[in-house]
Amino acid sequence: MLAGCQAVAPPAPTITSRAEWGAELPNHNAQNERGLFDPATNPLGWKVYADPLDEVYNTIVLHHTALPATDGPQEIQLKHTRDKAWADIGYHFVIGADGVIYEGRDIGVRGSHTGGYNTGTLGIALTGNFEHAMPTEAQLASVAALVRYLAYAYDITHLAGHRHFQPGDTVCPGENFTPLLPEIAENAGLEFGTDGYQPPH
Ligand SMILES: [Zn+2]
Repeated sequence: MLAGCQAVAPPAPTITSRAEWGAELPNHNAQNERGLFDPATNPLGWKVYADPLDEVYNTIVLHHTALPATDGPQEIQLKHTRDKAWADIGYHFVIGADGVIYEGRDIGVRGSHTGGYNTGTLGIALTGNFEHAMPTEAQLASVAALVRYLAYAYDITHLAGHRHFQPGDTVCPGENFTPLLPEIAENAGLEFGTDGYQPPH
């Protein structure tokens, strides 16, 4: 089945909002993501997408956090803002080991999760390190539901893992999770791989 051909909208999964998990506000003085985006003077800045989002996004990128599975959005936000000096948590969604889906960076803002391919990709991270552990059944159920929902809501065509965009640079989302990605894509009516990527114009 091709994206956009699903006859019935998949149910929206329950998502724990930033307010509910106590997110810090974005820090626009962060060293590595300073100020607001400007194509000429500040291409790395905070980019609020202007277009309708279904014209912005074409690919979902899946990640593991490579942190303890119990480290949730607060710990990840702290790591991304303190250690990586980004303005905010880099992923658009985080899925905990218990299957809870957390809102990450505002979906209307460019993420910071896949170097060179952040513009126009939607980033979802499962907590844990899947080089060593397995994603939980609850995580797999939640990521399947979230991907199906996002694919429909934003007219997504493709799904890939972080390592498929940056081979050699990262093993993310881990050797135990990566083989499951084609099935997640297929079940959401998406093509697997990076071929659909194109930055919005
Ligand atoms: Zn990653």
